[in-house]
Amino acid sequence: MKTILIVDDSPTIRKLLTYVLKKQDYIIAEAEDGIDAMEKLSHVQADIIIVDLNMPNMDGIEFAKSLRSNFYYMDTPIIMLTTTKDDELKRQALEAGVNLFLNKPIQPNILLYKVQSLLMGVE
Ligand SMILES: [Mg+2]
Repeated sequence: MKTILIVDDSPTIRKLLTYVLKKQDYIIAEAEDGIDAMEKLSHVQADIIIVDLNMPNMDGIEFAKSLRSNFYYMDTPIIMLTTTKDDELKRQALEAGVNLFLNKPIQPNILLYKVQSLLMGVE
């Protein structure tokens, strides 16, 4: 089974994503910001990471950068949650190593499709 790390400061969003993804038999780990996520990754091996853009302490872009500079997470797929107004930030996120974006509000079918595609390496 594949493990997905969900990183978002909103407990509601974490709960929603967990609910949707658990239906597909993924193992879910949660973190509330980039710092918490780096800590979780010291004892959980994630196959894919879903990260919010805006978070306190360490935002999604800083988190993506630290993942890409970590030997174990150089190539792990990163999906970033954004709003459609974040164009400049999206550019920075791509530079930081984010693979693709998902717009909020999240549509469960699109989320599942993107996760599956990235895990199969076809996106
Ligand atoms: Mg947020």
